[in-house]
Amino acid sequence: MPYVSGQGRTGGERRRRAGPPRSERTPKGTSRTVNIETFRAAPVRAESASASPLPEGRPSRAEAEAAVRTLIRWAGDDPDREGLRDTPARVVRAYEEFFAGYAEDPVALLTRSFEETEGYDEMVVLRDIRLESHCEHHMVPIIGRAHVAYLPAGRVVGISKLARVIEAYAKRLQIQEKLTAQIANTIQDVLQPKGVAVVIEAAHQCMTTRGVHKHGVTMVTSRMLGAFRDDPSTRREFLSIIGGQRWQVEG
Ligand SMILES: [Zn+2]
Repeated sequence: MPYVSGQGRTGGERRRRAGPPRSERTPKGTSRTVNIETFRAAPVRAESASASPLPEGRPSRAEAEAAVRTLIRWAGDDPDREGLRDTPARVVRAYEEFFAGYAEDPVALLTRSFEETEGYDEMVVLRDIRLESHCEHHMVPIIGRAHVAYLPAGRVVGISKLARVIEAYAKRLQIQEKLTAQIANTIQDVLQPKGVAVVIEAAHQCMTTRGVHKHGVTMVTSRMLGAFRDDPSTRREFLSIIGGQRWQVEG
């Protein structure tokens, strides 16, 4: 269940400064926690275009650049002045990065899993994964963090693959609720673990730079499946690992 928490900028900064770093606050337990900041810059490779939901008749690059010129003119500027001359080409290249997820197949990313786990059956948590997406209503950035956990049922998957599943869905036009559900459902469907949990906290620039101009507002969405939905202690352990005591996260 999504909700918007109105944390003012100062409140957020105070909260971030309070207490020891999160890694030191992690409770001692059997859970495996991996900080995967390093995956933030992992490129999304277009290697399985088969799953792309792109409709037929994709416009050409020249058509896309012409559309950017139109938007520049509509904004009130001259696309032929020196500073803007190469802008349509740059914008189209940027779009290739922003929306690289359409060329990714998230299911294929997870199909290679490992069964030699020595019976490891405790929670696997990836937390603080940098999330960059674009709101499908205004096409402006959604910037935040994702936390993903699953409870293996005999099979585990490479942790970079989980991060790439997040990227594959994030690098599309999105709403946060759908993004959260897509990530959780895909991991559940392909890996078939005992449970999956996904929490995303993100700021939407359509809310901070236009419209209501509410700076510092973070939207939190969660999707809990299997044991994370049914077993309060499993859910508590996950929320405690990701530092989620401050949220009333519901399935
Ligand atoms: Zn929006």
